[in-house]
Amino acid sequence: MRKIEQIYIDGEFITPHGTETADLFNPSTEEKIGIVRLGDVEDARAAVAAAKRAFPSFSRTNKAERIDLLKRLSAAVSARSAELTAAMIEEYGAPQYFTGFAVSNAADTFLTMAKVLEEYEFTQRAGRAEVTMQPAGIAAAITPWNNNYGFICTKLATAIAAGTTIVIKPSEMSATQTQLLTECLHEADLPKGLFNIVNGRGDVVGAEFSRHPDITKVTFTGSTAVGKEILRVGAETLKRVTLELGGKGPSIILEDADLETAIPNVLRMGLMNSGQACVAGTRILVPASIMDDVLVRLKEGIAAFKPGSPLEPEVMIGPMVSSKQHERVQSYIRLGLEEGAELLVGGPGRPEGLDHGWFSRPTIFYNVNNNMRIAREEIFGPVLCVIPYNSEEEAIQIANDTSYGLQAYLNGSDMAHMRALAERMDSGRVVINGAPHEPLAPFGGFKQSGIGREYGIFGLEGFLERKAILS
Ligand code: NAD
Repeated sequence: MRKIEQIYIDGEFITPHGTETADLFNPSTEEKIGIVRLGDVEDARAAVAAAKRAFPSFSRTNKAERIDLLKRLSAAVSARSAELTAAMIEEYGAPQYFTGFAVSNAADTFLTMAKVLEEYEFTQRAGRAEVTMQPAGIAAAITPWNNNYGFICTKLATAIAAGTTIVIKPSEMSATQTQLLTECLHEADLPKGLFNIVNGRGDVVGAEFSRHPDITKVTFTGSTAVGKEILRVGAETLKRVTLELGGKGPSIILEDADLETAIPNVLRMGLMNSGQACVAGTRILVPASIMDDVLVRLKEGIAAFKPGSPLEPEVMIGPMVSSKQHERVQSYIRLGLEEGAELLVGGPGRPEGLDHGWFSRPTIFYNVNNNMRIAREEIFGPVLCVIPYNSEEEAIQIANDTSYGLQAYLNGSDMAHMRALAERMDSGRVVINGAPHEPLAPFGGFKQSGIGREYGIFGLEGFLERKAILS
């Protein structure tokens, strides 16, 4: 049984003041694998104090010094990629194709930010004024469990590039992964207090970071409900906030799509990260004229998305992260049936041959109406809705008829036409024909998918304040 009993403050692993503990599980087996001791409000305050002490000197470092730190961090994370992968498989249950991406991506975020920093001009002119970009102040990052390394590393890399110090509260469900990652980051030998990591409950440590007067900026990834709470609490001290929240992405199959390639893309984008992805394209919009053909192909295509233990390399859908998340997905599958949607494949219960573990059956509903709750609410599991449309106008209208707007997908043959359609979609990103991730492009949501953008110069500027000097 693993015991994680330390948090990281001021460049050291220390025993927290908090004494509450949380259990850690292997979601593939439901076995308890460890216990994490959680920080409390006092620990959160100690972390902020350390970041505050480190801020004056770190905020005056130059580009070359920060680039050097970013490169060291990348190397330190890469050095233990095999252990990081194993921990993500055990504690989170991510399939191996996803851990392969997530771990190398976490190390790469530091190098990408180093490149952005190299080219970024911190000083511009506006008329007679000189405009400088200054670190906004001490930052707090609050992150979820569905890509623990990636979220921590992206936020840390951006803070360093901007010249700010940071306190980080990862998900309490990811403590094994956080412990390993923190050990890697520690190896990079950064100035004390530059980054501080406190395991803890959201309503304790997260809430303290959101209201602490010495925190200027909160960068949050997680649910829309918690994002709203952070915004409300942060309003008291007018915090700058970046909120990366939920999604219910539309994935439009256009009439001219080559279904041989479009169907695998649509399934891949809908079921990525076992469906536990804010960017998943979970509403599949299909021309009514080709519906029968598409349904046959979806049913055939989903057979390639094997559910099971992520220890098996060919598995594409791992377990849900927790018993609570598993029950949530199951309840949405039951709701879909109650709402009158029809099952193309999947349904309630575990996949065949898996009698324990928090597994859900990859499920596709068809004859879904965009007003059904399964089409409007984020399920965060391997559950897709097929919605018919009769004209492209209607497809765009349905795509935009959602409270979210994080990532949308277009699948077709005419690139110029799809670019024109992309302009009409209320979405932070529009991915055409399964195009790969671009780490320099802005990432974030329209509407209730969030506020602000991460990545590249867009993310960097979220940690900076403009100052005009008139002479
Ligand atoms: P969550 O909102 O429950 O928790 C996220 C983090 O917030 C955790 O660290 C949690 O402890 C903390 N938290 C909880 N209550 C808090 C409070 N009152 N004050 C401050 N912090 C608090 O989300 P989750 O269940 O961990 O993750 C799933 C959600 O994250 C999904 O809705 C998903 O769409 C979203 N998500 C968004 C993105 C994105 O980039 N847009 C990426 C991944 C996940």
